[in-house]
Amino acid sequence: MSQVNEIVSLQAIDDEAAAFRAALEDVERRLRGNEELDGARRQLAISDAALKEARIEQRAIEAQVESLTSKIDPEERRLYDGSVKNIKELQNIQHELESLKERRSAFEEQLLEIFSRVEIAERERSTCARTVARLEALWEKDQQDLRHEARRLGDLIVRTDRRREEQKVRINPRALHLYEDVRRRRGGNAIARVQGGVCSGCRIAIPEGLRKRAFSSDALAQCPNCERILSMG
Ligand SMILES: [Zn+2]
Repeated sequence: MSQVNEIVSLQAIDDEAAAFRAALEDVERRLRGNEELDGARRQLAISDAALKEARIEQRAIEAQVESLTSKIDPEERRLYDGSVKNIKELQNIQHELESLKERRSAFEEQLLEIFSRVEIAERERSTCARTVARLEALWEKDQQDLRHEARRLGDLIVRTDRRREEQKVRINPRALHLYEDVRRRRGGNAIARVQGGVCSGCRIAIPEGLRKRAFSSDALAQCPNCERILSMG
């Protein structure tokens, strides 16, 4: 095979390797995180905190109700068990009881509100928990697939690199150096075809003399504009 054809083969191998590496990079990026699951977990943490807060508030109000009941009950007993005979004292107890019961009623109303808040928060939290569980199961499966794909691409890269080493020795050092140099400067693509007398890399017309040179077996011709190695194939 002519040097230019050997270089075209090397470019094909390098293109494959670059595609495999880009695919592997993408797989690794996807393996690093799952934004949807992270978002669902944050939402679960928020709903969990809201539920805890509502329950703390519920317990605080329940404690107020209990505390008032523990004051009301003995006062009621004193009122009816006949131990207090004095009318004035009985009236005082009655007033005291009314005021305590009024305060307890207010707390009991608050308690009804908080019960419904707790119920809503519980529903919200369990919805979030189900979403997280569903996404975690999917993510588990995705990760297995992605890890499998990463291994497959890793193997392909190793094999392609080996083919590159084998292909490299078929190219003389000066031509190889030229190829590497142009490839680096031209975004990974060192070869241009001459199609209809025009360079496929930069679309300028290639002079007749250069075209002939590109046809010959061992001399390498470069596009005078983009410097890519010209191939007639
Ligand atoms: Zn060109």
